Formats: sequence, structure tokens, C-alpha cells
Amino acid sequence: MYDIIIIGAGPAGLNAALYASRAGKKTLVLEKTFAGGQAATTYEVDNYIGVEKCDGAALAMKMASQATSFGAEIKYEDVLDINIEEKRIKTQKNEYKSKAIILSMGANPKKLGLENEDKLRGRGVSYCATCDGNFFKEKIACVVGGGDTALEDAIYLSALCKKVYLIHRRNSFRAVSLLINKVEENSKIECIFDSTVEKINGDNIMESIVVKNVKTNEETKIDTNALFVAIGTSPNTDIVKDKITLDENGYIITDENMKTSADGVFAAGDIRQKTLRQIITAASDGAVAANSAVTDIS
Ligand code: NAP
Repeated sequence: MYDIIIIGAGPAGLNAALYASRAGKKTLVLEKTFAGGQAATTYEVDNYIGVEKCDGAALAMKMASQATSFGAEIKYEDVLDINIEEKRIKTQKNEYKSKAIILSMGANPKKLGLENEDKLRGRGVSYCATCDGNFFKEKIACVVGGGDTALEDAIYLSALCKKVYLIHRRNSFRAVSLLINKVEENSKIECIFDSTVEKINGDNIMESIVVKNVKTNEETKIDTNALFVAIGTSPNTDIVKDKITLDENGYIITDENMKTSADGVFAAGDIRQKTLRQIITAASDGAVAANSAVTDIS
């Protein structure tokens, strides 16, 4: 029996674990893949106050070791089912029980929904520039999207690839101006505005894409072996979708104390409905969720 079980070891879950274990609660973190979540695949973090510049993987490792230094356990198990009322959590290996649950499973990259996208995933189509960029050294890479992730990816890839096309469906980016300035100053990045990716071509590996200008309907083929899709994320809430209240996009609705619609169940980080999804705001949510859970069960 645990006091608090946290599902997901991104910055939200790890900071929740730090706060819960530091408050003397028996704390377990269940994580499907690796600690750090999306932060661990960020090549450079420069907006986490107190950490001037750091690679995301290094920051994630520090977060995990700090959380466990106060006694929290991390187990790498995939959660299959959650009994919200009884606070029972079933993984592929075990069943656990706790007094409170914190949901911090984060969000996953969205797909374009094109034919061949799944078939060529890992064969040219990627959702993580820092994970796969190295495979395309001195090649031509394409990035789709106009948010912070897409611009960061394009900048990251420009250091490895001979050319990067940044394809965005509108004529202005939604990313922060700091990134827009960096992209504009980067001679290796060519922005293709008002355009969408219509086709991904290739059998065993991706060979080209077709891009359509949405204003003129003109289609252009780009010969490229790498397409990085950075068009936002969707929340990992499938496992709780009929059990707690979600918004129309599937994000968990919480109050300011991170309480969900179910008693003793809290949510933190990118998985919840909020306006700013950053490492720092995820960590902050984790602290608040842990504090609420500790108060709730004391
Ligand atoms: P995002 O801000 O939601 O941006 C998604 C982008 O993809 C938008 O430009 C959107 O176009 C485009 N898009 C969406 N669906 C599309 C589709 N089907 N086809 C083509 N384009 C599509 O996502 P994000 O960039 O991943 O960022 C997510 C959150 O993480 C944001 O809050 C962001 O600030 C944060 N983040 C922060 C940092 C940092 O602080 N260093 C780094 C990365 C991410 P429209 O603009 O036309 O809607």
C-alpha cells in the first residue's frame, strides 16, 4: 500500500514525487518508458529558472535522482487500468493500491494523418528531432508546424543537416519571437508558408514529400529523407477518459489545486487543461498536486 501513486515520470510527476516523498509519504512513480517525458528529448532548455542552459536529458536525470533521493520509488511499468474509486492501479506486471493518485502522463505528438505516415515512421517520418536528427547528417530535412517545437526542431536540425525546410500552414508562426528571430537569421532554414504536406512518398524509406500551397493550390515535390512532424500534442488520457471529467480536446479539467472531478485523484502537467505547457509549469503543477494529495490523505 502506497500513500501516493504518480503515473508518469515527466517533470510534473517527478516534482510531485519530490514533494510527496519529502512530506514523508510513501510514494511510487509508474512510468511506461523513460524518466523526463518530452523534456528529456529537448536538446536545450533555457527557460527553466535557475538552470541557465542545459540539455533536456541531463535535466530529466537530475529531476529523477532528486525525486528518489527523498525516498520516492520509480518503477518502469505500463499502467493498463486504474480503478479510480478504490485507487487500484493495474500494470502489466503488478497491481498497486494507494490513498491518492496523481495523473501526469503528459501528451503525445499529433500525427498529420497522411497515408504512409505510420508505415514510414522510423524510416524518415519522425516526431522527435533530438532523437532522430542525427540519422540525417548532411541531408535535406523538412519540419512541419509553426509552434515552439517546430522552430526549435528546425534550429536543432540546421546544425546537422545541409538544408531544412520549415513548412507551416499559415503565413505567421505562433512560436515565441526569440525562436522566430533565430529562424529568420539562419541561412540553412527555408520557410515555406501557407503550405501543407499532402503526400509522403516512399516504400521502405521516405524519398520525397508533396507540399501544397493552400492559397494557390500549387503542389511541389521536395526530395527529402526526413520529415519531422511538430504540430502539437494530444493528451494521454485514454485510460481515464470515462472516469474523470475531460475537456473537448481530451485534457483533464482540474481546479487550481490540481483536483480532478474524482475524489483523491489529481492531475499535473501537460495532461491537464491549461494555457502554458512548459517544463516549469509542469513542475509547478506537480508541486501543487502533491501538496493537495498530502493534505487530502493526512
Ligand atoms: P503548438 O503550440 O500547439 O503548435 C502546433 C503548430 O502546428 C501550430 O503552428 C499549428 O498551426 C500547427 N498545426 C497543428 N495541426 C496541424 C496540422 N494538422 N497540419 C499542419 N500544421 C498543424 O504545439 P508545440 O509547438 O508542440 O508546443 C506545445 C506547447 O509546448 C506550447 O505551449 C509551447 O509553447 C510549448 N513548448 C515550449 C517550448 C519552450 O518553451 N522552449 C518548446 C516546445 C514547446 P497553427 O499555428 O496554424 O495553429
